[in-house]
Amino acid sequence: MFESYDFVVIGAGIAGAVVAERLAQSGGFSILVLEASCSAGGLLRSDRDHLTGIKYPIYGSRALYSDDETVIKYLMNFGSFVPYEHRVRARINDRNFVVPINLETINQALGTSFDAEEAKAFVKDDIESSAITQGTLEEAAVTSIGRSLYEMFVRGFLTKQLGADPAILSDDAFNARFPIRFDNEDRFVPAAKWQMLPKNGFDDLIDQLLASSRIDVRFDVGADSFATAKRLSRIGVVHSGSVDALFNQQFGPLEYGENIVCWKHSKPADVQHFPVVTYPDFETPYFRTHAPAYLPNSMADPKAEKILVGYEMSANAAIPDFLSGCPAYRYRYLAKSLENKRRHAVYTSLVSEMSGVYALGRHMIPSPNIGASVGIALETVERIRHSV
Ligand SMILES: Cc1cc2nc3c(=O)[nH]c(=O)nc-3n(C[C@H](O)[C@H](O)[C@H](O)COP(=O)(O)OP(=O)(O)OC[C@H]3O[C@@H](n4cnc5c(N)ncnc54)[C@H](O)[C@@H]3O)c2cc1C
Repeated sequence: MFESYDFVVIGAGIAGAVVAERLAQSGGFSILVLEASCSAGGLLRSDRDHLTGIKYPIYGSRALYSDDETVIKYLMNFGSFVPYEHRVRARINDRNFVVPINLETINQALGTSFDAEEAKAFVKDDIESSAITQGTLEEAAVTSIGRSLYEMFVRGFLTKQLGADPAILSDDAFNARFPIRFDNEDRFVPAAKWQMLPKNGFDDLIDQLLASSRIDVRFDVGADSFATAKRLSRIGVVHSGSVDALFNQQFGPLEYGENIVCWKHSKPADVQHFPVVTYPDFETPYFRTHAPAYLPNSMADPKAEKILVGYEMSANAAIPDFLSGCPAYRYRYLAKSLENKRRHAVYTSLVSEMSGVYALGRHMIPSPNIGASVGIALETVERIRHSV
């Protein structure tokens, strides 16, 4: 550890790790990474399950999708990848439905045998006859997929995931998250050219990014990491935490919601056979389950007697009895209230006016993905290198 560094990076998630790696290796700068938790990885952290031997993503499964060759070529320098096309099912009344909604989902849900044109006509009529709360997430949803499909597949899921009814939430990126398809495509992100998983998990990838001898990492740093970063940096600070921390929360603190993933072993016969299943009904307390043994990088024994399943729910929901005492991991997300969106926009608009401070990562763009976060991190380093 040194007294000072060229750059201090706040946060050892994927965004902070990419910036640290590039500034160290292509810029030749000395870097200190300050991380609030006890290990690197952020939302992409994994742990080893001692019973089944698999490595599992503690906050739930993630897949890498990208159309950006620069991003993919860059990441491939830090480990091997396995191809993986993500497919998700929604479970309602013991029936599985393809999500995002496709033609098969529509016919199965409505008991129809529409072709693509008939299904489009149904959705169009349903949109036109729907009552909508203006300017909200509900409006974005209902004007995209109609009231019937929204009530069946989206409202309960989002209410449980975001802790409030979409009728009072902001409309962030609904169409990107919940597209509707009038064919039988069942891949989660069919358009992305590259779809894959790191062979040894995302957190191993992040450890490789941070392995440069020009990078020091300090864990368990306190809440005042921005002040520490300013004190220890000679050239600049890169921040991947909550953006209000850069301004002492002068326009009020940003609000965060909190979800929890509880992990439990079950017999394979008793659980889902998909890596990810969603639960759009209001009765099931969790909104999503994860079975990482079905991911191609898990190296799970197909004959294992037990399988590990993660149950993802709001931290405010009552934990069902069958999960009490199970290991549980909490993550925070930017709350989607209309006021929080406005406040977030105020803070993000001010960041570009700061000298020597660069903000990036998921706290800057709500609903980002890993590929986009890496792309923005690479662009940020180019910007920094041109300005110093
Ligand atoms: C439920 C869910 C599912 C997702 N699924 C996918 C998916 O399948 N595919 C995909 O591409 N993307 C997915 N994403 C998005 C993806 O996980 C994130 O975009 C990405 O991991 C964010 O990386 P980051 O580095 O910006 O943030 P983080 O991973 O949150 O890392 C930030 C790090 O900074 C640290 N930190 C924060 N504040 C401070 C501070 N003040 N001082 C010191 N350290 C601090 C944190 O502890 C953390 O380690 C999903 C996100 C969620 C929430």
